[in-house]
Order: sequence, then structure tokens, then C-alpha cells
Amino acid sequence: MTAKDARIRLEGVAKKFGNVIAVFPTDVEVAQGEFVVILGPSGCGKTTTLRMIAGLEAPSQGSVFINGKDVTRLRPGDRDIAFVFQMFSLYPHLTVQENVAFTMLAQGLSSQEAMRRSGDMLRHLGLGGLVHVRPGNLSGGDQQRVALARALVRSPQAFLMDEPLGTLDGSMREEMRETLRAIHNRSGATTVFVTHDQEEAMGLADRIAVMKDGRVVQFDHPRTIYDNPVNLFVADFVGSPGMNILAGVRRGEWVDVPALGMRLRVAEDGDSEGITSNTASGGECRLGVRPENVLLSEDGSPCVVEHTEALGSHNMLSLRTAAGFLKAWIPAGIRFREGETIGATFLPSGCRWFDGASGEALPWKTLEAVCRPTR
Ligand code: ATP
Repeated sequence: MTAKDARIRLEGVAKKFGNVIAVFPTDVEVAQGEFVVILGPSGCGKTTTLRMIAGLEAPSQGSVFINGKDVTRLRPGDRDIAFVFQMFSLYPHLTVQENVAFTMLAQGLSSQEAMRRSGDMLRHLGLGGLVHVRPGNLSGGDQQRVALARALVRSPQAFLMDEPLGTLDGSMREEMRETLRAIHNRSGATTVFVTHDQEEAMGLADRIAVMKDGRVVQFDHPRTIYDNPVNLFVADFVGSPGMNILAGVRRGEWVDVPALGMRLRVAEDGDSEGITSNTASGGECRLGVRPENVLLSEDGSPCVVEHTEALGSHNMLSLRTAAGFLKAWIPAGIRFREGETIGATFLPSGCRWFDGASGEALPWKTLEAVCRPTR
């Protein structure tokens, strides 16, 4: 399968429904052949953004470009893109194979070639045994996979997908995710994929656009988003669980973290110009630490073991501090007694800092963590 590549560019694209601003002016550029995932909680504007790219929703302002051409006023059918919704519809009177072949036939492909391609795609998606079945006799999950096959078998400039794996259950969802990514790698088609599932986004995307309240708050590679979230929202939303967040107070080069009786020495990371935050020299801040960067050590700050959750390859430890819980990954073989007191500290390179008022990331690096301060 080959697909023509396409660049997609949104220039100041925004959408209002009456008084509701669904999407604030947004600038996003998706490169040719890129797999971009729009990620965010319910109601943040993901679907509306995708529908504006598809031409199913007219922007209130701004322009949509595909391959440098302004398509803002073009109808969906004239944009050469394939759209897969979570809510799908298959033709009930056609077999699975005929459903998948339908659009190709409508595009003028010979019946023999359309049936051959649809059969190949169905076999590729593990649906080879269902080619002669009618949709009414399929499970919801299989219907969803057939709808995916129908979109993927075309060779459009771009694929737009709105929660296409939403109705599939655990293992099937994971399998389809891998298949989708493999098909993307093979076809090289530009893809924009909407989901509220951060794990799905991390597994699929070349880049993720994280949305909140109608705005793209971070647009970057999954690893960068995971390692360096731009604000507390992204720090918490991305990761399973999200970052541990602890309140801190900065005094000069030290930050006190009262929940753990811990002090951390920080420095401005590189150029400190541009720090306008009130936490630059004092005031409240937040420390963010991923569970894998929580270290257990006899010299650490004392915490009480609340719970150990076995997750197969590792355990998730829940530690009670003076102000809430701290999550830590530990190897699968290690277990602690509930109620036991153990010491916890943080890997300095894994510490992230956020402004206490705005929640925006601060360009601080951590030099050391002192768990039993003498002063
Ligand atoms: P979900 O994951 O629940 O589908 P979403 O992130 O895709 O959410 P949108 O469906 O784009 O969010 O909706 C963004 C906002 O715009 C919401 O407040 C929604 O209620 C509103 N909205 C969307 N479509 C319409 C519409 N046709 N008329 C009025 N308001 C709408």
C-alpha cells in the first residue's frame, strides 16, 4: 500500500459554537509522513480540531493548508483525506470484503483489483476469516476493525482518526495499535489521530499535541513531553500514574519540601533570562518527580508504606508522606510490609520544577537532595 504524503498546517485556526470557544487560535504543522496524536481530556477540543482539518467543521477564523494549498473552503470530499471515527457505519447489506472494497469501486478501480486489495488488507488486519460475513453478524470490535480496514485500504494524502480504537478491548486494542503503526510505517501517509488515552498516544505518535481547554499546550516528541512537561497539567496527564507533585518553598539556592522534610539545591538551567516567575528567588513552587526517579534509601526521608501493587514486570509502591502519597516503581521481586517505614529520596536529574502560581515549568536544575537537613 502506498499513500501520497501530505503536510498539514493550521494557521490561527479557531472554532466558536455560540458562546463556547471550542478551539482557541491554533498554529500546528504536521510534517509529511508524520504520525501526530492530539491528546487531551474530554471536551478539550480534539475532535473539533480534527473535523476542521477534515472540512467537516468550518473554522470561525484561520486557515487550513494541505500540501501548501489553502483548503479551508474545500468540501471534505475534495481534500483527499480518509477519516475514521469511533462511531462507524458499515453497509449492512454488503459483506465485509465488499464494504472494504466499496470506496475503491466508487473511485473507479476495477472490481477484481478492489476485491484483491480489500482481501489483502483484511488478512493483514487478521480479519481474513470474515471476508464473506455481513456486518450485522460481527462483534462491535470487529466492526470497528473493518471500518479501519476500509479507511486504510485507500491511498489518501492523509488519514484523520478520531478514537478509532475506542471500542476495542485491552489486548485487541494493543494489537491494533501495533498494526496501525506498522501500516503507517509502510505507507508513509501523514496521520492525525485523536485520543484521550495517554498510553495510546505515547505508543503511536511521532509527536503529540497535548490539548487543554481549547488550546494546544505542548507539541513535541513523546519522550520530551514525558521528560519535560511544560506545565503541571501535562506532568499529571501524561504517564501512568502521572508525576508525583510536591509543594516547595524556595529560599535562595535551596528549596524546602515540607511533605518529606527534604531540601534540594537548585540552579537556573542555562540562561536565566526570561524567568519572570515569582519563584525565581523565593516563593512557592512545585516539585515534579516521575515514580521511576523516586529512590529508596536508608538515608532518605522517612515514609510509611501504604500499599504495593504488583504490575507484572515491576511493582508500584504507594508511600504516605506528611502531605499525601508518593508513587515509586520498584522491581517485581521486592515487597514491603504495609505500615513499614522506609526512606525515599529523588534522583536529582529526574526532578522537575513548576511555578507555584501558574503551574508553568521553571528552568531549574537540581544539584542535590538532602533528606535529613541539619539546619
Ligand atoms: P471528547 O474526547 O469528549 O470527544 P473533545 O476533546 O473531542 O472531547 P470537542 O468534541 O472538540 O472535544 O468539544 C470541545 C468543546 O466544544 C466542548 O465544550 C463541546 O461541548 C463543544 N462542542 C463541540 N461540538 C459542538 C457543537 N456542535 N455545538 C456546540 N458545542 C460544541
